[in-house]
Amino acid sequence: MFGPKTLLMLLAVASLSTQMPLHAQALRPDADPRIEKLVASVSQPRLQATATTLAGFGTRSTLSDTVSTTRGIGAARRWIYGEFKRMSPKLQVSYDRHMLAQQGRITREVELVNVVAVLPGKSARRVYITGHYDTVNSRRPAGADATATAAGAAPGAPSAPLVRPTINNDADAPGANDDGSGTSLTMELARVFAESGIEFDATLVFVTWAGEEQGLIGSMAHATALRNAKGVVEANFNNDIVGSSLGGNGIVDGESVKIYSLGPEDSPNRSLARYVQRVAGTYVPSHTIRLMAREDRFGRGSDHSSFTANDFPSIVFREANENYERQHSPDDKLEGMDFRYLAQNARVNAASAASVALAPPAPRVTTNGGSATIGRGTSGYDASLQWQPSAGAVAYRVYWREAWTNDWQKSQVVGDVTKMLLPNVSIDDYVFGVAAIGADGNESVVSAYVSPVRKMTDVLIKK
Ligand SMILES: [Zn+2]
Repeated sequence: MFGPKTLLMLLAVASLSTQMPLHAQALRPDADPRIEKLVASVSQPRLQATATTLAGFGTRSTLSDTVSTTRGIGAARRWIYGEFKRMSPKLQVSYDRHMLAQQGRITREVELVNVVAVLPGKSARRVYITGHYDTVNSRRPAGADATATAAGAAPGAPSAPLVRPTINNDADAPGANDDGSGTSLTMELARVFAESGIEFDATLVFVTWAGEEQGLIGSMAHATALRNAKGVVEANFNNDIVGSSLGGNGIVDGESVKIYSLGPEDSPNRSLARYVQRVAGTYVPSHTIRLMAREDRFGRGSDHSSFTANDFPSIVFREANENYERQHSPDDKLEGMDFRYLAQNARVNAASAASVALAPPAPRVTTNGGSATIGRGTSGYDASLQWQPSAGAVAYRVYWREAWTNDWQKSQVVGDVTKMLLPNVSIDDYVFGVAAIGADGNESVVSAYVSPVRKMTDVLIKK
């Protein structure tokens, strides 16, 4: 039970609960000046220069030439590696290599190479910022179109076997936006984080992936190896197509960005997405974050899914209005880019990753067996919450909301304690979560108390 002193404190903080929607409130009214400085150091001209060089390799197809010094994926990855190396001696730069047998869209044996830059923090927990540097041109060669259209125009007619035209891996695939934008953003953030002089608690990992266009292969190989090595990932901010403000539908929107995250509603991915929305409200208030309650666009994907598949929290940023005509084609050129917009998206990533990396780890709200540490208290109608202490936390913030809503409605800051009782707030009607707050005021992602999935017992029916 709580002592009278604790109870007084709880009553005092209860009055601080505000009525404003949480995403509209600043995560902390007094923003961390270190993060403000970091965000301000994102350079639009540098993003443009990086994307220009990347597009200049002609193609970066995973199956393209690796020998040339000016064209193909080999030249591109050696350049990215060299850039990471030049940025700062603090970055540990490496190639993450995987030999692939012929399979699926991998039409011959090939060595797949991710380029990795690690900025070590005080702890081993990792925060990733990523984009894929490989490109593809999957446009049908001239001549193939006519056959395909004729077959498609005759519904009900006996259909000829669908033959996919062979992709020419050496054809032009500049990939200025897909995903030169995410790659440039990742490289720019490696620079600003390494040059910031900030000592982060988490280790920042900047990766440009290969093999995305053949089925997320580079990121999957990396994330799977990491899980097998029992690595701890606090967040992966994946960026894929974040550099154009003009959609194929003619709509221009340079003021918002979408974040897709795999559910269910209180998954660590959704928690991370809500976190970015709130951090952006503090550090990049001119940019609107549109949260999407789905893993990705309809029937499409990217490297964040390699992380969620390995139980690492992960989200993907996507520009507000895409132009599908330019993607996977020789038309994905620099002229379709808006570098002011890309810089804004980079600032949102920078603020969010810095905030997670400076805050204590998110508190654990489960037992070692995985059960949520939540109960109904002695009355049977209260919310009795417990959590594991987070290293470096000086306080915690408890959140709750009605169960048929998707964002936190109320919160209370509590001291350096690991339990809280909310009288007469039923755990059946509300969802709860808790975040850890560090000495410098930075707050972790919220860990939600998730109801266990109940297995239905097989019913035996007598004949
Ligand atoms: Zn892509």
